[in-house]
Amino acid sequence: MRTLPALSVLLAALCVAHDSLASERIGADLALTGATLIDVSDGALVRGKTVLLKGDTILAVVDRKALRAYAPRKTLRLAGKYLMPGLWDSHVHFGGGPALIEENQRLLPLYIAHGITAVRDCSGDLPDTVLDWRSRINAGTMSGPTIFTSGAKLEGLKPLWKGTIEVGTPAEVSAALDKLQGQKVDFVKITENTMTPQIYLEALRQAKARGMRTSAHLPVQLTLNDATEQGLGTLEHQAYLLRAATPREKELTDLVAQGKLSGREAMAQSVDSYDEHVARVAMRSMAAAGTAIVPTLYGSYVTSYLDQDDHRQDAYLQYIGKGLRATYDWRVQRAAQDGPAAIAARHASFEKAAGLLPMLAQEGVQIIAGTDAGFLNSYDYPGTALHDEIALYVKYGLTPTQALQSAVLAGPRFLGKLERYGSVASNKAADLLVLDANPLRDISATRKIHLVVSRGVVYDRARLDRMLADTKAWVAAQP
Ligand SMILES: [Zn+2]
Repeated sequence: MRTLPALSVLLAALCVAHDSLASERIGADLALTGATLIDVSDGALVRGKTVLLKGDTILAVVDRKALRAYAPRKTLRLAGKYLMPGLWDSHVHFGGGPALIEENQRLLPLYIAHGITAVRDCSGDLPDTVLDWRSRINAGTMSGPTIFTSGAKLEGLKPLWKGTIEVGTPAEVSAALDKLQGQKVDFVKITENTMTPQIYLEALRQAKARGMRTSAHLPVQLTLNDATEQGLGTLEHQAYLLRAATPREKELTDLVAQGKLSGREAMAQSVDSYDEHVARVAMRSMAAAGTAIVPTLYGSYVTSYLDQDDHRQDAYLQYIGKGLRATYDWRVQRAAQDGPAAIAARHASFEKAAGLLPMLAQEGVQIIAGTDAGFLNSYDYPGTALHDEIALYVKYGLTPTQALQSAVLAGPRFLGKLERYGSVASNKAADLLVLDANPLRDISATRKIHLVVSRGVVYDRARLDRMLADTKAWVAAQP
């Protein structure tokens, strides 16, 4: 008779204690537990931690004891898996004309499906569309990798490519930068096809004075030092460095400027007169000036070896829209016109340029992984190209840790976004990649994707496979 009330009192007291404990615990949306964390900054493996997410942010990274203070709504057990920040492809393009807007939009899930949670768009001919996507993705109303974009690129008068802002005078440069600043672009892309070297340097100077970061090629009439001393932020495409890797740089540059040598001939002569000491000195001054390199090796590799590799049956073509596939033709046709000597020169310049990678790292130049994928660049596929790119970095002498740094840390560092990206730590973006194998042991493990978290949204393997299947079905149904 007397035990029953006592038991109910005891139970009631226990419930109160349990409720008060639950209300004191910190709410989280998701706990990722059991995986080995990869610290990309030093290649360390960290075990025994749980990553707690809330919204689009990492709430905390805690050990088992501290985990008791949290009440995650859901827990994913990831024993045997490897967890790291999502990858960045820091050189992509969207373009091919307004008719291809939907095909370009269909590239966004391909990036997510391959663990790429951020892209740096280096401008195409759809700048306003990309700016709109950037806002919608940031607002959470559209899914896709976080986009950092230059908006429209600066070009000289009567440019080859569309979607540019034409500038011919310092006042026009200033007006263009006003416009881009108004659009809050993430950096300024400068293309030199029809731009005079004086206006190119003027654009670098003015952008730097405004605190805007810049990305560009190296015009044939200028030396590497001309551009870096005016504050160039990122030099796109590693082959340009070969021009500065010869004691003849100034002489060859002047001959091109005077119209006595073509750019291509000058490049061939640069490769022939390559000098490692000169190359290292150039890299050291590049590093001192704070100019980073975006190698885009994979695109160059594909184009250089088109004589050997037939990509026309690549399975990945099934994910690329018909219109975008058609933009691949021009490089293929151009490469097909090369005779044996030109093909040999293509191979030689690719190998020489790729071989500069370990020296760049030794001399302190920031290496930012970028692929040039999107349109025009044949068989350089959005999504997979980044994995091919960093695999080449390892093949040509970087360590797997350095290769991962180029795709995780260097992009945010260039944009001044390290407080939000680059590591698995509290207050960082909930942009994560969970792999089945350790990429520090074998870089190809970045392709073994178990799940992706983009802006706090979880894409497990089944969901990623559905996204890929949807894209393939959409392409197959194109008229
Ligand atoms: Zn490009």
